[in-house]
Amino acid sequence: MSTITTKAFVMNSFPWKERHRLLHLLTPGLGLITVLAPASERLRSEIRGATQLFSLSEFTLTEKQSRYAVRTASVIESFIAIAEDLDRLAAASHAAEVFLDVAKHDEPNRETFDLWAYSLYEISVSPEPVFISRMAAFRLMVDIGLKPCLESCVRCGGTADREPFCFSFSEGGLLCGQEDFRKSQAEWTSLTAGTVALLRYVASAPYKRLFRFFASPEIRSEASGFADRWLEERMEKRYRRLAILDQRPDIFFS
Ligand SMILES: [Zn+2]
Repeated sequence: MSTITTKAFVMNSFPWKERHRLLHLLTPGLGLITVLAPASERLRSEIRGATQLFSLSEFTLTEKQSRYAVRTASVIESFIAIAEDLDRLAAASHAAEVFLDVAKHDEPNRETFDLWAYSLYEISVSPEPVFISRMAAFRLMVDIGLKPCLESCVRCGGTADREPFCFSFSEGGLLCGQEDFRKSQAEWTSLTAGTVALLRYVASAPYKRLFRFFASPEIRSEASGFADRWLEERMEKRYRRLAILDQRPDIFFS
C-alpha cells in the first residue's frame, strides 16, 4: 500500500455500499480516478467540505492495486457560487459530464485538468455561465482532436473568409464560395462572421485568455447552437444537463 498526495477536482460523488461514498476525481497527474471515501464518522466530518461536488481539494490517498481511498483531504477552493445558482450549477454539471466522458477514455492529461480549472472558475464568476460551459466543452473537443475546419474550405483548402459562412457538419468544416451547394443544400449551416471569429478564438486561445472575449447575444446564441451540435455529433451522445434550465417556472426568470 502506498500513499499519494494530489490536488483534485471532485467531478462526481455518490453513495456506495451502506455509508461510504465514491468520488470521481480529476487530477493533474493520474487523470480521472475513482476513490473511496470511507464512512468513518471522524473522517466524514473532517473531509466533508473537501469532497463536495466541484470542490478543488488536496487529497492524501492510499493506493492498493489501483484502488484509491481517502486518508485525509482539505479544501483549496470550494466554488461555493456554483451551488448557490441554478444557472451555474447546470453549467458546471454540463461541462463536468463532457469532461468525465473524455477523461474516462483518455490517458491522464495535464491539459484537461488545466482546462477544467479555468472553465470551472469562469463558470463560478461569469454573468454567462451556461455559455462559458458550452465554449469549454467546445474547446475540449478541439483539444482531443475533434476540431472543426474553421480556417479554410474543408473540401478544397481555399479561403473561406466571406459571409455567409457555410459550415457542413457532415464534412466537419467551412465550405468556400466555389463549392456547389445546390446538391447538398440540406446539410450546411450558415454562420455569421462574428460567430466564426469567436469559434476560431475559442479553438486556439491560451487557456489563460480563453474566456476573455466579448460576444453579443446573437453571436452567443449562434455559437451555442453550433457548439451543442458539434459536441453531440462528435461524441455521439445527447447531453441533457442544461435542459433543466428550460423547464424551470417563469418565476426564476428576472
Ligand atoms: Zn472550397
